[in-house]
Order: sequence, then C-alpha cells, then structure tokens
Amino acid sequence: MKQTEIVSANAPQKVGFVHLGCPKNLVDTENMLGLLHNAGHKVVGDESEADIMLVNTCSFIDKAQEESVRNLVHLAENGKKIIITGCLAQKFQDELLDLIPEAKALVGTGDMSKIVEVVDKVSRGERVISITQDPTYILEDDSKRLHITVGSYVYVKIAEGCDYRCSFCIIPSMRGDFRSRSLTSIVEDAKRYAEKGVSELILVGQDTTSYGKEFGASLPQLLRELNKVDGIQWIRFMYAYPNLVSDELLDTIAECEKLVKYLDCPLQHMHPEVLKRMRRPVMDHVAFVQRVRDRIPDVKVRTGLIVGFPGETEAHFDYLTESIQQVKFDRLGVFEYSDVEGAHSQGLDGKVSKKEIRRRRNKLMEIQQGISLKKNQALIGQALDVLVDTADPDKGTFEGRTQWDAPEIDNRVLGKGPAIPGEIVPVEIKSVTPYDLKGVAQF
Ligand code: SF4
Repeated sequence: MKQTEIVSANAPQKVGFVHLGCPKNLVDTENMLGLLHNAGHKVVGDESEADIMLVNTCSFIDKAQEESVRNLVHLAENGKKIIITGCLAQKFQDELLDLIPEAKALVGTGDMSKIVEVVDKVSRGERVISITQDPTYILEDDSKRLHITVGSYVYVKIAEGCDYRCSFCIIPSMRGDFRSRSLTSIVEDAKRYAEKGVSELILVGQDTTSYGKEFGASLPQLLRELNKVDGIQWIRFMYAYPNLVSDELLDTIAECEKLVKYLDCPLQHMHPEVLKRMRRPVMDHVAFVQRVRDRIPDVKVRTGLIVGFPGETEAHFDYLTESIQQVKFDRLGVFEYSDVEGAHSQGLDGKVSKKEIRRRRNKLMEIQQGISLKKNQALIGQALDVLVDTADPDKGTFEGRTQWDAPEIDNRVLGKGPAIPGEIVPVEIKSVTPYDLKGVAQF
C-alpha cells in the first residue's frame, strides 16, 4: 500500500540525526529520514549544519537509556532544537520533558509516520508531543527509506511489537502487542532492493517466528515467497522465539537455496528454574539444538544468554556453564542482567551483585572464545563464500561475512584481493582468531 505523498508546508529544514539501538530501530530511523527527505527537508550528516536534530532513542536496558540521555544532553548543551523519537520517548515522556526541557518534540514508537508534521511544527516554534499509548501502527511501505548503512545488506522489519511478557523486558510496553506487515508489502520491498543491487535481506522483528499469525500466514510461507525473488542472494531472519522453531521452519531453511544456513534464537538462559522466573519457555535445549543441526546440514546456531538474573544461584550458573560446553553454540552473545524500570524482574528477590554478574559473564565468554576458536580453526584451508560489505581498492583488501555471520554481532572475514561491495566471492581461509577469519579471494 503506497504511502500518500507528504510535502512539507514550511521552509525546508536541515535535519541531522542520531540513531541508537537495534536494527529494528534503525529501520525506523531510516524511514523517518526518508519521509523528511521526500517532503523536501534536507537530511544532513553533520550535526553542526543541522537546524533540527532527530534522536531516535533506545531504552532496552539501563545502559541504552544512559547512552540516549547522554546524546540528548550533549545536543541540548549545544543549543540544538531536538526531536526525541523512539523507545525512550515512548516510555519516559514525562521524565524526559523535565530532564531535557530544551527538547522541542517527543514522538512515540507508534507516531513515526507523523515526523514531517512534527518537524514543520517545531520549525514554526511549536512544542509537540505525539505519543500513542499501546501503539498499533505498522509501516507497510518502506519505499521512501533513506539508508544510512552499507548497501550489501538491508534490514527489513516484518513485524512490530511482541505478545510475550518476559519478566526482564519492557519492549512490549514501548512497542505494543505483536502485529505483522502484509506479505505482499514485504515481497515488494525485496523486489525493490533486488533492483537496487542489495544482496542480502535480514528480516527483523521482536519475534520473527510469530509472523503472519494474525492473518493465517507464517514465517516459512514468507521465506518461501522471498526465496523466489530474483536478484536477492541471501535471506536471513533474526530473533526466532525458541518454542516457535518448527520442523517446517527448519525444513524451509534447509530447502530454500537463498536462505542462509543460520538460526538466531535467543534462549536467554538454560536452567528450568531461571527460565520460569524469566517467564521464558522451559525446554531441553541440548535436544533443541541437536534437532536444528540434524535437520539443516552445516547450520550455525546463534543464541543470547543473560547472566546474573535475580535468583540465579551458583548451581544455576554451573548448569549454564556445563550446558554451553555441551551444546557448543556456533555464535553466542552473553548479556549482564540489569534492573530496568517497569520490568517485572525489578521486583524479584535474589539480586546478584554487579561484580558477580561481571565474573559470570567473563567466564562464559572465556569458554565461548575457546569453542569459537576451535570451530574457526577447522575452516582453515577451506574456500568459503563471502559477501563483501566494504572494500579498499587502494589497499586491495575487503571486509565481509560468510552466510553464518550476521553484521556487527558475528564473525568478520578480512580478505585480500580485488572485491566489490555486494558481490559474493570465494575466499580461502588462511588464518583465524576466535571471532575473525582472514583469507584470500579466489578467482
Ligand atoms: S520475546 Fe521477550 S525479550 Fe523478546 S521482545 Fe518479547 S518480551 Fe522482550
């Protein structure tokens, strides 16, 4: 469904931006910039040039909140007109207006389509608060998006919000309940990106595995449709919810040639008692990962774990340690638990000290580093297909990823040889570290 043409009624403004948070928030930033650009405003990269600064904030955990506030205070001290958008605006509107009186506007996660109107009002000296409680908005037309990342891959948001209520998470209170985009609009996106020469689609949402449940569609169905789109070479989806990883989904990954053999499924913990307190599904994770590996040859499994959750005992942690040594995840992110205002877990007993949380995180990462190094060493001498993300023709070097690596969070391939961003080249792996592969392009 094409968006109506929005044209600014006012003198074009130079709009600068700060993007914070996850790939889902990045899609929002780029769509807001696209709407402003399309309406005649000038999007500028340099803060000093900007009449107005749009700050798309993150509020997932306290560190993210602090980073958002730091950016806002910096801009306020520089006398900038600030428009605060995103999760922090949605969650903390009252506090924010006190904290940043210089802010000219607050735009919630359900109100991003109004950004042109907001900029127009701010440019006329008005103060605007546009926040919908329990947002239900979902952007269907991605065609005006102004991309600020490299061109080899693109994040495509397929759904918004979440119906789960994990006890450590406040995302549903900022993003609303789960809702999917239409299958047609996503396939339209893919065709448009293929025409633009994008090689990889990365599907994102709080929980991609619930896709289409409102209208009888499903993630496997969407993936099979995207697999038909000419020009796209790789398709990846992130944030699978553990007990929604069906055999049909695994078979779809195995059978569709453009689907990378990669499953990102945050488990958050592995001990039943901790999972119950997290309000997360209790399951046999060893059997789960084995089922994934049995159904998809050569698959790499990524997960995320939280350490130091309230009530996590030494015994629970030992169980977690033994489990990751048994499962040997191919990719692992370990996060330190922290209280977040408004999360159920904030009120739980059995808090673990920051020092102990840090010790536990370091211990798991140390173990994983050994596991990752061994897995990477087994790749030496192999020629792997690498999607080139960036290249330096003068130095004859490039940086890219294998199908088993998502941008920014997984391994990189540091390559030698002529290569063009967006192309997939065979690279012979010569040496490795726990998180990087080094090799030479084969022609
Ligand atoms: S699945 Fe849980 S952790 Fe993920 S967004 Fe939903 S509530 Fe938060």
